[in-house]
Amino acid sequence: MSLLTVGSVAFDALETPFGKTDRIIGGAATYITLAASYFTEDNNLVAVVGDDFPSSMIGVLEGRGINTEGLEIRKGEKTFFWAGKYHENMNSRDTLVTELNVMGSFDPKIPGSYQGAQYLMLGNTSPSIQKAVLDRLNTRPKLVMLDTMNLWIEIALDDLKAVLKEVDILTINDEEARLLSKEYSLRKAARKILAMGPKTLVIKKGEHGALLFYEDEVFFAPALPLEEVFDPTGAGDTFAGGFIGYLAQTDDISFDNLKRALVYGSAMASFCVEKFGVERMTNLSREEINERVAEFVKLAIFKID
Ligand code: AMP
Repeated sequence: MSLLTVGSVAFDALETPFGKTDRIIGGAATYITLAASYFTEDNNLVAVVGDDFPSSMIGVLEGRGINTEGLEIRKGEKTFFWAGKYHENMNSRDTLVTELNVMGSFDPKIPGSYQGAQYLMLGNTSPSIQKAVLDRLNTRPKLVMLDTMNLWIEIALDDLKAVLKEVDILTINDEEARLLSKEYSLRKAARKILAMGPKTLVIKKGEHGALLFYEDEVFFAPALPLEEVFDPTGAGDTFAGGFIGYLAQTDDISFDNLKRALVYGSAMASFCVEKFGVERMTNLSREEINERVAEFVKLAIFKID
């Protein structure tokens, strides 16, 4: 089934306890589409970059089968830039710089060939852009998933609440869930957030896994305890790409399949953090993914008679 992803394509500068990078390729939609490319062949990107963005990277996306017809390249303008620094425990980070550049006036254009997409991933951008995408689609996709961040909860709460009424799945981290719901208990937070519109909520807890809330049901997938975590940037987006990519591939949005998607998303995120930036996400093999998913199953499934 076809997947449409809208979000940032960026330059990132990262600092983790293991090292520092200058400007490397990042952006929510970059991670999402790369992760989804291992599941769905009909993978369509809408984003904007400046003419400083390397055409070789567009080639990498296209090499993974990602349709870049909807990637607008603005002449004489600069690509979105984000810099972040991770704390010693790697679970939290500070944003050091956000230069919106082309994202400041991003007006998502949906190519005609993308219309009719069954799965829509609204990656982290301003809620008004996310809403504009929904309004510009001729038919409502079968499943709409949205990611957001503390910035939008803080500065655009009304717009965010408006778009949340129209989505099926919201994915946020635990800190953002608490900020949005004003509840500390994630169970209470989930109840309040589900009342805002989405039928399903995924709360990501970094190295502590992810929770899936659906009506009164809750399901948990752990994160794989890895020997080395170099760079958690993009783990949330990679998770989202694996999750929705798997749903698009299987075209099954039952609760049982959402649980499987949670495991596939977690498996993809576990690869992302092994190297800086998107490096690990460009050359995975099917065997590696299957082996990683099997490790999750072994880690978490148990029987008690
Ligand atoms: P994650 O680690 O999954 O939360 O996502 C990190 C990615 O989000 C980075 O590659 C950034 O380029 C991108 N990003 C950071 N801030 C924003 C923002 N305000 N809007 C859109 N994308 C952002």
